[in-house]
Amino acid sequence: MKPPEVDRIAGSRAAVAARRARAEVKRQIASGERTASEVLDAATPDHPAESTLRVSELIGSIPWLGPTRTARIMAELGISPSKRVGGLGVHQRKRLREFLVERQKRKLEPGSLVVLAGPTAVGKGTVSAHIRDNYPDVLLSVSATTRPPRPGEIDGVHYYFVSDDEFDRMIEAGEFLEWATVHNAYRYGTPRGPITLALAEGKNVLLEIDIQGARQVRQVFPEARLVFLLPPSWDELVRRLTGRGTEDAEEQDRRLRTAMEELAMQDEFDFKVVNVNVPTAAREVVELMPTSPGA
Ligand code: 5GP
Repeated sequence: MKPPEVDRIAGSRAAVAARRARAEVKRQIASGERTASEVLDAATPDHPAESTLRVSELIGSIPWLGPTRTARIMAELGISPSKRVGGLGVHQRKRLREFLVERQKRKLEPGSLVVLAGPTAVGKGTVSAHIRDNYPDVLLSVSATTRPPRPGEIDGVHYYFVSDDEFDRMIEAGEFLEWATVHNAYRYGTPRGPITLALAEGKNVLLEIDIQGARQVRQVFPEARLVFLLPPSWDELVRRLTGRGTEDAEEQDRRLRTAMEELAMQDEFDFKVVNVNVPTAAREVVELMPTSPGA
């Protein structure tokens, strides 16, 4: 039997009001007005907005947690994707509370750190150069490398070109936030000092590094947003790699093998950006950075 018209109208009004109330709770978490653990504690039957919120929405509203990371956290906590906060079992609620309280204790840097990684020849360098040239508020980290400069590369702008001995010294002195041997050939590392300084000043920082480096950054800065730049297709990636003409056949082969392994790691990342065209990809990366307080 169909409900009378007035009941249906009242019902849909109630549904709209409930959705709005949940949206307001999400906004409060995202803006920092309430912590996610406070919302969890308030989720009792007499607080429907909190208790009917999905757990994925509760976690996903926390600044810095994208959908990929939210899904992983929920899987680790043993909570199914469709679960609502009010429907959590005692143990699930306890685990979620412990997780949220632990996260909230972490000190957040005022600035944001975005790591751009992705397979070789996908265009990370071009996208980050576009950001350097068009978004002056973003600090693009300059890495140190033991690789010799390519034609047109400037020391201190594209890289700090250093000797093996100097690289060893920098490792020993703890000057790197992360470092890695890339393509089994040269070593590359991110100098720590300029980054911690810029973050403390509330600036947004971009690192363009390889995947091993991205993993290390996550250990040091769990709040870093990890972005994986994807090629439009595998064929396009091969075309870009062979078209560059800066590496010999053996080196190209080695880079393609690395690229294939690297593509398999994309799900570890918080965000994926497809590099169809450089300005659009660059804008998508920059949009992951909140406006810094000083900007
Ligand atoms: P290329 O020699 O073509 O400039 O860079 C080779 C690879 O090294 C790229 O994948 C680039 O992202 C990576 N890379 C550049 N700087 C760093 C760094 O500081 N750390 C790490 N881990 N990788 C880097």
